[in-house]
Amino acid sequence: MNEPRHTYPPIAPSEKPTDTDVDTIVAVATPSGFGGIGIVRLSGPRALKIGLSLFSPAATPGDNTTSPTPRTAHVGSFRDEEGHTIDRGLLLFMPGPASYTGEDVVELHGHGSPLVMEQLLFHAVARGARIAEGGEFTRRAFMNGKLDLVQAEAVADLIYASSTAAVHIATAQHEGGLSHALGEISDALVVLLSDLEAAVDFPDEEHDHPSSEPFFDRIIEIQTRVERLLDTFRRGRILREGARVVIVGRPNVGKSSIMNLLLERPRSIVTEEPGTTRDTIEELLVIGSVPVRLIDTCGIREALSPPEKEGVMRTMRAVEEADLVLVVTEADRPMSADERVLLDDIDEHRTIVVCNKVDLVPGGPESFSPPDTSRTTVVTSATLPYGIDELITAVQRRLTAPASLRSEEQIVVSNARHFAALSEARTSLDEAAASAARGESPEFVSVDVRGALAFLGDITGVVTADDVLEVIFSRFCVGK
Ligand code: GDP
Repeated sequence: MNEPRHTYPPIAPSEKPTDTDVDTIVAVATPSGFGGIGIVRLSGPRALKIGLSLFSPAATPGDNTTSPTPRTAHVGSFRDEEGHTIDRGLLLFMPGPASYTGEDVVELHGHGSPLVMEQLLFHAVARGARIAEGGEFTRRAFMNGKLDLVQAEAVADLIYASSTAAVHIATAQHEGGLSHALGEISDALVVLLSDLEAAVDFPDEEHDHPSSEPFFDRIIEIQTRVERLLDTFRRGRILREGARVVIVGRPNVGKSSIMNLLLERPRSIVTEEPGTTRDTIEELLVIGSVPVRLIDTCGIREALSPPEKEGVMRTMRAVEEADLVLVVTEADRPMSADERVLLDDIDEHRTIVVCNKVDLVPGGPESFSPPDTSRTTVVTSATLPYGIDELITAVQRRLTAPASLRSEEQIVVSNARHFAALSEARTSLDEAAASAARGESPEFVSVDVRGALAFLGDITGVVTADDVLEVIFSRFCVGK
């Protein structure tokens, strides 16, 4: 074979990985498509050897690529086995364990051409690398103790974040804020557990039988900390998935028109015939820094036909699950009984009353005073249009208050898996507290405390089943 100048010799057959070796994985780390730069990343014991075998350093004085300086860019060209140049670019070597994955990592920075990336990938595979699976780099980082599971999941959250607030949460989680809070709770549980066990071995002399009653306050204190984390979930979910904002009202009050104005593009059918928006319609937008799923519903009224009944049921379900409900009424008539009933059914902090069609009021917006509902009320006209900015401000205020979204300073549980495990931990602590309140044996209580600890361990990945790991890392794109 024609050896290209400056490159490493091809890998001898004896060095080909055996089944017991850790594979060296390779993937394109940049998004597919055309761009200024494209990066192919290698990780594993043979990353450097494979990377260098593709690389021919430019004759730059001091650029000693036979043993590249770690974390330093080396200029050169990428060549195939025949010595043909694929592209010019940079080679970067991050030796393990101080690398993203904890293994030797090599990055080849070429031009952002899908064909160049494909060629580099092809030749890396020819030299013994294996194409990485989705999330495999981060999975290796987790396996090598570079990240715990919460931090690994934060990487995926960050990549897929849909708002700046979600970026802040993912970054805080990646930096270990949530892991630290969970660690503190686990530490307190471990101390509690050892004290419970000591109480079994060395019972209090005043009592015939050891009692867990003296531990009650400590269990409650730890439970409150778990509870506080659980409370952050709703806010975390809003930031990740979007707040559910539901528009309801009688047919023809202008729900669809308002939704269209909020979206600034037509989507739901605006019609003069009552009851045609039978299904709920959902759209995503960002209000302030908060992602919002705006849901237009079919009108609330006596449903006549079965499809209408179904639509009304769906509306009621959407209202129940909403983070915020915009109840649209008409300014040119008094509020109807069904509108009052609807308002009474929804908590005050989840409602904004929208008095629409103020253009139909004699004298216009200036002479109109909205009905007294003890709810935040915004006066609008979808036709003028009027009051839409005020409505957006009110929605934003509602979704960010009272718990403000300065999320970068706060620890927020935003992941359903974490929430489920924390809920289980809380249930175990509920049972521990109940047993302690009854003065049962500390042995009995320690079973539940152990349970709570195990659930917390699930979150950070101290003990996590392989199938759970599969699910978590399958969310990642290839190359991360
Ligand atoms: P929905 O059934 O509640 O979704 O109501 P639509 O948005 O379909 O509107 C019903 C009718 O009311 C349409 O003819 C709209 O043009 C009209 N409409 C909506 N908002 C206003 C408004 O602020 N003022 C006036 N005059 N008409 C409006």
